[in-house]
Amino acid sequence: MNIQPNVSLQAFNTLGVQSYAQYMAQVASVEQFKEVAAFAHESGLDIKVLGGGSNVVLPERVSGVVVQYTSETCDVLDESDADVLIRVGAGFNWHQLVMDSLNQGWYGLQNLAFIPGLVGAAPVQNIGAYGVEVKEFIKHVHGISLDTLESFTLSNEACQFEYRESIFKHALNGQVLITAVDFMLSKAPDVNVNYAPLDKMAKEQGVPTPLELAGWVIDVRKSKLPIPSELPNAGSFFKNPVISFEVFTGLQNRFPDMPYYEQAAGVKVPAGWLIDQLGLKGKVFGPVSVHKQQALVLINHGGSGADVLLAAQKIKQAVKANYGIELEQEPRVFA
Ligand code: FAD
Ligand code: NAP
Repeated sequence: MNIQPNVSLQAFNTLGVQSYAQYMAQVASVEQFKEVAAFAHESGLDIKVLGGGSNVVLPERVSGVVVQYTSETCDVLDESDADVLIRVGAGFNWHQLVMDSLNQGWYGLQNLAFIPGLVGAAPVQNIGAYGVEVKEFIKHVHGISLDTLESFTLSNEACQFEYRESIFKHALNGQVLITAVDFMLSKAPDVNVNYAPLDKMAKEQGVPTPLELAGWVIDVRKSKLPIPSELPNAGSFFKNPVISFEVFTGLQNRFPDMPYYEQAAGVKVPAGWLIDQLGLKGKVFGPVSVHKQQALVLINHGGSGADVLLAAQKIKQAVKANYGIELEQEPRVFA
């Protein structure tokens, strides 16, 4: 059991916030986790689960024991001519899984290429990009209760996946360690090029293979999104709001150019566009700025978690005042 006191988490979060964990342990198995949990329970300390740190805002000091699960197993559970069911350890790098699966001829995850983080966090916010969500491929999520140490398996339905949401952000928020995820991937090389940049490339170059499509996604992302090692960030800081048709109609009268996407639950409006229209692209809030190429991304230039949250608060206030829309923050805030 390797539990270290007073560990700097600066290299463990993509915002590059300086933060110290009271204790930190990296565990590669459920058995190792149980030893760490026993220490935490005996010492009256909370357990906090960290993945790759690409969707968190950390405070200067994280109390309790920060646990990172590092198991990188990948096993085939079942296979047919049509598809394959794999179980992947929560510590497996997400982008690596996407590329490995495509290279095996197992398709589906190509639109989700180049998303940072680890497999264990993918179900937490039901990661999505370019019209695809990970919930489409998840069969089961396996984990262990941080409190009772009982193991569990949740079916796809039980995970209550929605747009950037799941049970792990609600009823099970901070309650569990996800240890593995089962994915059902297809052997049919179907591709989804519905989003404009991919559609444009498909019209110019023809329908891509899944592996080629992953390459396009990587290229588009590299051209628009800041790389955290160069410009520390946590990806999109706000969810795109889905507003009622009534609210949308009122806004559209005021802003006829506003992009929108109709959904079953209402109309999705790009939060980045709302922020951009307020002239906030590139705006500096102390050590934090709004990314010049993508208004949904906040860049941290050496500030604290509190600095990042203060900048986010100011943006939220401006959006609320101008459009009457309450933006919801995407990254999880650690206490
Ligand atoms: P962390 O940030 O470490 O954790 C996120 C949350 O999940 C925390 O609440 C944590 O406690 C919990 N968690 C992590 N691992 C576990 C586990 N094993 N068990 C239980 N709980 C756990 N997201 C998208 O959806 N689509 C995108 O296209 C996208 N692009 C991004 C681009 C950039 C440049 C960046 C920086 C981020 C982007 N993100 C995107 C956000 C982020 O990468 C994803 O949400 C990712 O899944 C987070 O993974 P992580 O391992 O870094 O999790
Ligand atoms: P974009 O292509 O500039 O589009 C802006 C927004 O419009 C996106 O957020 C997207 O919503 C929405 N959109 C665009 N085309 C759409 C369509 N055909 N149908 C429905 N909605 C559409 O976005 P971007 O910033 O370059 O990001 C590209 C993709 O990567 C997006 O899917 C985005 O979610 C994802 N991404 C996510 C994060 C994160 O941290 N969560 C970070 C970077 C990129 P959706 O976001 O709902 O798809």
